[in-house]
Amino acid sequence: MQKLELLYEGKAKKVYTTDDENVYIVDYKDDATAFDGKKKGQIVGKGVINNRMSNLLFQYLEKTYGIPTHYVKELSDRETAVKKVSIVPLEVIVRNIAAGSFSKRFGVAEGTQLKVPTLEYCLKDDNLGDPMINDSHIIALGLASKEDLDTIADITYKVNKGLKEFFEKIGIELVDFKIEFGRLPSGEIILADEISPDTCRLWDINTHEKLDKDRFRRDLGGVEEAYNEVFKRIGLGK
Ligand code: UDP
Repeated sequence: MQKLELLYEGKAKKVYTTDDENVYIVDYKDDATAFDGKKKGQIVGKGVINNRMSNLLFQYLEKTYGIPTHYVKELSDRETAVKKVSIVPLEVIVRNIAAGSFSKRFGVAEGTQLKVPTLEYCLKDDNLGDPMINDSHIIALGLASKEDLDTIADITYKVNKGLKEFFEKIGIELVDFKIEFGRLPSGEIILADEISPDTCRLWDINTHEKLDKDRFRRDLGGVEEAYNEVFKRIGLGK
């Protein structure tokens, strides 16, 4: 498969068209940003880790839970062929434990176990600072239908169950995560984007040490070490 034309360059990935009109190639970068792009940096080796980890998790979710994803084929350490979709412009966030913006918004200490997982949506729009948005807003704005949202919620809770189980086995607590969905030309909604330490909060089960992008966001140091530790525990890194 050949990269043809750079279609889009995001903060952490580039997307190319290919000689197959139904397939794009995603190329993962080491660039890291936080706070709507106001904080910029690099996490050496992150592109490789996020690419290979996302692919492993997408395949696991497909096989074990029958979750449809955009994954097609890993082409190299940083490049993957994915199904061409149009991205539903929502960040779909699940929380098992309070942290980050949830803790701030509701005045709940980070680390508080939630009685049930929560589901929330943010509108993907950097200029607006990705504001939180509810189901009725999403439907009213025509971003997704009621049926689409039902599908998204259903898949999202399955993803949470699958990922929680996966990470618990390797001594990691899945605190929260963000996923994105895409629509195939047929209209089918499938899981897209990535699942990585950039998009999940991952804490060591015993020490509660942060093994994710919060180390970068909050200048905690040991950023590369944390990404490498996760990579090692999932059986891909050394
Ligand atoms: N998240 C993400 N991209 C975003 C915003 C959030 O991947 O643009 C992830 C983040 O890594 C965390 C979860 O979504 O795992 C919840 O993030 P939160 O709303 O607490 O926002 P933050 O504190 O990161 O601003």
